[in-house]
Amino acid sequence: AAKKAGKRCYRMFSEKMRIDMYERLRLQERLSSALRDNRNIFLYYQPIIDVKTGRTMGREALIRWYQPDRGWVSPTDFIPVAENSDLIDRLGEFVLTKACCDAAGWDDGLPVAVNVSAAQLGRDTLTSMVRAALARSGLSHDRLEIEVTETAVLNNEAGAIRDLLQIRDLGVRVALDDFGTGSSSLTHLLSFPFDKIKIDGSFVQDAVQRKKAAAIVGAIAGLGARLGVTTVAEGVETRDQLRLVVREGCRAIQGFHTGRPAPMENDAHVIAALTGESPSWITTGIKAP
Ligand code: C2E
Ligand code: MG
Ligand code: MG
Ligand code: MG
Repeated sequence: AAKKAGKRCYRMFSEKMRIDMYERLRLQERLSSALRDNRNIFLYYQPIIDVKTGRTMGREALIRWYQPDRGWVSPTDFIPVAENSDLIDRLGEFVLTKACCDAAGWDDGLPVAVNVSAAQLGRDTLTSMVRAALARSGLSHDRLEIEVTETAVLNNEAGAIRDLLQIRDLGVRVALDDFGTGSSSLTHLLSFPFDKIKIDGSFVQDAVQRKKAAAIVGAIAGLGARLGVTTVAEGVETRDQLRLVVREGCRAIQGFHTGRPAPMENDAHVIAALTGESPSWITTGIKAP
């Protein structure tokens, strides 16, 4: 009987795998044509707020993809698909170029942060891609920041560090994203070149209820201060969370409480036409260059 059940489990498992693989390929195909035609893929921007002044100190670019027959697909679903194919380079190039061009047109001259995937690091392609995006947009180099996760650096430590050093040589800053969630050791902070630490939202959201999480937020903020880098608390959703991370020493915050990711005005109109949402609901209010 056990053998029978085992067989059945096996069959169900492989059936599921088959569907997953099929779904993956479909997604990959659709993403490929969306990137090729430059259609239905957008950048949203979320403000990063300086807690001392209450002012926006920069914006993070977050990719968005809309499938007309399925709705919005989360980057946490399609970035891994892109990473497992050569699409990640095309996606990365799109994001870098678009973010730099958008930011070059911002009246307030604020910096833009761009996420870079593990798969883009350590292959000697990223630096030239960054250089090309800066040249094409005319964006001043000190207005670009690259966000990488610790895990991304750990995958190919020597290669990743070489890339990050080259990027910093261009005058571009590097932020360590989702800090505290990777299987990292503090030793790595010695060798990773970075200018900013972003504390993962999971700690921030736990911190109001759990003293341990609050202690971790405080310790990371203290570490940042000692290292001379800015610490940003991500995923701040409530006033209580805001108060707590400020008390724990974070210099900047990012989260739904102070601003949701939203597109620039010109994209908002395209998105409104595509999804039927009202453009006034979805815009950052930032005009196109
Ligand atoms: P991330 O870089 O850590 O980005 C922060 C994520 O937290 C974003 O999710 C953002 O929408 C979300 N967020 C912001 N404020 C709050 C909040 O108050 N509460 C909660 N619960 N979430 C908040 P998103 O846009 O879905 O992106 C998820 C991840 O996908 C990003 O995490 C990043 O790792 C990746 N990603 C997004 N855009 C890109 C891109 O252009 N390139 C690459 N390689 N990865 C990207
Ligand atoms: Mg990020
Ligand atoms: Mg993050
Ligand atoms: Mg993340």
